[in-house]
Amino acid sequence: MDRLQIPLTAYESPWVNDDVRMFRNTVSQFVEKEFVPHQPRWRENRGPDAESWTNAGRAGILLADLPEEYGGGGGTFAHEAVVLEELARAGVHFGSAIQSTVAHYILGYGSEEQKRKWIPRLARGESVAAIAMSEPGAGSDLQAITTSARRDGEHYVINGSKTFITNGARADLVCLAAKTNPKAIGMRAISLIMVETKDLPGYRVGRALEKVGMHGQDTVELFFDDVRVPASNLIGGVEGRGFSQMMEQLPYERLQIAVGAVAMAEQAVAITTRYVKERKAFGKPLLDLQNTRFKLAECKTNAQVGRVFLDNCIERFIAGRLDEPSTAMAKYWLTESQCRIVDECLQLHGGYGYMTEYPIARMWADARVQRIYAGSNEIMKELIAWSL
Ligand SMILES: Cc1cc2nc3c(=O)[nH]c(=O)nc-3n(C[C@H](O)[C@H](O)[C@H](O)COP(=O)(O)OP(=O)(O)OC[C@H]3O[C@@H](n4cnc5c(N)ncnc54)[C@H](O)[C@@H]3O)c2cc1C
Repeated sequence: MDRLQIPLTAYESPWVNDDVRMFRNTVSQFVEKEFVPHQPRWRENRGPDAESWTNAGRAGILLADLPEEYGGGGGTFAHEAVVLEELARAGVHFGSAIQSTVAHYILGYGSEEQKRKWIPRLARGESVAAIAMSEPGAGSDLQAITTSARRDGEHYVINGSKTFITNGARADLVCLAAKTNPKAIGMRAISLIMVETKDLPGYRVGRALEKVGMHGQDTVELFFDDVRVPASNLIGGVEGRGFSQMMEQLPYERLQIAVGAVAMAEQAVAITTRYVKERKAFGKPLLDLQNTRFKLAECKTNAQVGRVFLDNCIERFIAGRLDEPSTAMAKYWLTESQCRIVDECLQLHGGYGYMTEYPIARMWADARVQRIYAGSNEIMKELIAWSL
């Protein structure tokens, strides 16, 4: 995608310092050179090239906010945000956010041995991670999952299926939510177990799911048929903590989504501004029409208001003070705003806005799912409402 830099003179996020600025340069150059030219192929293959993971690892793009002692970038969420922003501005869908999320589960609850075994490989891109919570019969209501992990000596025997799993086609490390004790009440039934999928009997990756957008990213079903996994792969050492671990980590994933939402909205305004200056109707540029100017003024204002709220959330997250309702507000409001802005910008492109060769058309299709995954926006409103 043709990328326009947002003028820095107007506003710069307060969490950006010299180090973060330098990191942004590295990420932006890497994405431009290594990812952008291959997007048509990724989209056609319904997923990124295998070597994109190791290339990203070598460039230091993966696990930017994980500690250096485990091979991570040693940065803060500011560094993770930069990666997400640069990918979003370039129109690249690469599951590095999921890679970071899984690494944070291991960092947060894993044993020292588990951290040393898995996190460095994820940082180098030698391993690709997926997180498998959703099932055909249970998405929002995670307590209703039916995938089971029955203890059998030194192993768990896993049965069930998962759907909509991002990175699932390539993942060799799946962070799986399963019921270790189906008799336990509600949330205490669920545990998180790391499944190393390479040559694993009984494990099967289903077909690539045909999505409305985000075609360059793989999303698949996963099947587990008497899959045996060492009992030591349980995260946190004690069964029944999976649900609370997910509730603790989901805000990280939701903030990642909010970062992408604002970056895409800003990019939509930037490319549309350029388009309406070039495209003519009735003998003058579209920008000379008052409706065009007003619509873009509204979009730019919405994007800027969103940016300031997001920045506030990022700063509070880095300081360890971001509360759950605020994270839910960010995920809900910023993704709704992203969809409205992208839709208005598409309208200003006329018929060309509906052509997938135009970035705005792809943005429109890509944006829609932001209101659904990682907890739908209706669930976000429930979380906000609980704080009333
Ligand atoms: C492209 C894509 C990638 C994804 N990646 C992953 C992944 O990597 N890992 C993973 O585990 N999952 C992933 N998901 C799944 C995603 O998180 C779920 O789709 C989402 O949580 C919603 O669950 P559901 O689809 O089962 O919808 P449902 O739960 O069936 O919801 C249907 C509708 O009912 C509404 N609803 C449900 N409960 C309530 C309520 N209590 N109050 C009000 N409204 C409610 C929902 O908001 C929604 O509008 C992905 C999904 C997509 C589309």
